[in-house]
Amino acid sequence: MLVELNAGRIDPARLLDLSRVDGLRESGARGGVVRLGAMTTYADVLERHAGELPGLAQAVETIASRQLRNRATVAGALVLGDPSSDALAALGAAEASVIVASAREGERTIPAHAFVTAPGECDLRPGELVVAIDVPVADGPVAYAKAGARNAMARAVCGVAIALHTGRRRAGVCVVGAAPTAIRPDVAEDLIAASWDDLAGAASRFGALVGAAVDPAPDARGSAEHRRHVACVLAARALRRLAA
Ligand SMILES: Cc1cc2nc3c(=O)[nH]c(=O)nc-3n(C[C@H](O)[C@H](O)[C@H](O)COP(=O)(O)OP(=O)(O)OC[C@H]3O[C@@H](n4cnc5c(N)ncnc54)[C@H](O)[C@@H]3O)c2cc1C
Repeated sequence: MLVELNAGRIDPARLLDLSRVDGLRESGARGGVVRLGAMTTYADVLERHAGELPGLAQAVETIASRQLRNRATVAGALVLGDPSSDALAALGAAEASVIVASAREGERTIPAHAFVTAPGECDLRPGELVVAIDVPVADGPVAYAKAGARNAMARAVCGVAIALHTGRRRAGVCVVGAAPTAIRPDVAEDLIAASWDDLAGAASRFGALVGAAVDPAPDARGSAEHRRHVACVLAARALRRLAA
């Protein structure tokens, strides 16, 4: 928003300040789910929820700079419709839900991985606000692997999040930066379930399945071919890290 304001593309008189709506600030755990109010910043995630939401915390640690993390909210990142958002990858793998509401239509719940519908677009109807994000508490190890042009202040060329659900012997996998939306590659998730006792042995095949599932477009950060290759390498690397 500040970028758009500085460029003169937004009229400040048309902005609505949500920072004093207390209900949007609240966050807490209930019944195995952490509800993050829409005004929860990345810094709040690291300070208050890193223990319950290690996947989101890992992804948030790779985002921008400390100054930006103090200011930026998780909900703002989703509404921006950025298909390379690091937080979106972690939320998708954790099977999180976005809660939106309007006076006219009441509440709707949308799976986080499906919330960004195209670059710059999201599943938000006129009059709706994001009010919260519900994230299941992690029930197994998690890993987030990201490649950017450098190690800080860089958006993802590609990011792969894996959350192992040890009770169910299944995994949530979500890839960002390698398609117009976040991707949940079902076949790659199924491979983890089928290879539960030898994840390291399945890593290369897993990488290949993720590479086949993505649909990258070329941009200033990389060609389509480079992004597909990076998705493949990051996926295998993240699974090997979990196996170890
Ligand atoms: C320098 C820089 C570096 C960055 N690096 C990274 C990075 O490494 N990785 C990454 O993933 N992202 C990165 N980002 C993107 C960053 O994550 C987002 O800009 C930020 O999270 C947006 O949050 P915000 O609270 O500032 O939203 P705002 O900018 O205030 O809002 C963004 C949009 O969402 C709308 N909005 C906000 N809250 C709500 C709500 N509750 N309901 C409905 N609409 C709402 C606003 O109206 C606006 O249209 C970077 C951004 C910058 C500027």
